[in-house]
Amino acid sequence: MIKANKVYSVKEIFLTLQGEGYNIGTPSVFCRFSGCNLWNGLEKDRKKAICSFCDTDFNGVNGINGGKYKLDDLVKKINSLWPKRKKNKFVVFTGGEPILQLDSNLIKRIRKYGFRVAVETNGTLPLPKGIDWVCVSPKIKSKLIVKKGNEIKVVFPQKNITLSEYEKLNFQHFYIQPLENKNVVLNTKKSIRYVLKNPKWKLSIQSHKFLKIK
Ligand code: SF4
Repeated sequence: MIKANKVYSVKEIFLTLQGEGYNIGTPSVFCRFSGCNLWNGLEKDRKKAICSFCDTDFNGVNGINGGKYKLDDLVKKINSLWPKRKKNKFVVFTGGEPILQLDSNLIKRIRKYGFRVAVETNGTLPLPKGIDWVCVSPKIKSKLIVKKGNEIKVVFPQKNITLSEYEKLNFQHFYIQPLENKNVVLNTKKSIRYVLKNPKWKLSIQSHKFLKIK
């Protein structure tokens, strides 16, 4: 049951290009929800977080267009960022973990405005209905429950990860994305080596980082 007076906590909303994965280069409104179930986002707790390598600031509502939104206001804000009278509307709900807040009401409403709806999730929570593009980025120490979708994007390497296990899952596209840390060059080389030996996989790069776009 969805509460009529539900309020969504949103870190930021902005128009950009999808920087990684299958939809790289696609104009998209990014709606980043606040909060994540795998880390509280506090630096002091990073070491004990499931994904201590997280590179996203998802706490609070203080980013561009961030705030506490009611359903109608959130949908209108997302729509207002798309070029007027232009088609191909595409919204990416991300986080943090977007599925903590994204629900079928919001999906239905934004689709009425003509948007295709994508989500980038860690795959630990059941998905609401009506999502057009599901991208799952599993984290090795968490329990993956979303085992099908459009793309799976694995940050690589993660300690004790067995990529061949993910190959059994029901996704259309399999991506490895080099872990962005002080060893990023080595991580990229390892990722490329893995993809060349295991061509079910493709390399995903975080192009927005070197293009220096948000
Ligand atoms: S699931 Fe994603 S957003 Fe959440 S802590 Fe891990 S890397 Fe960060």
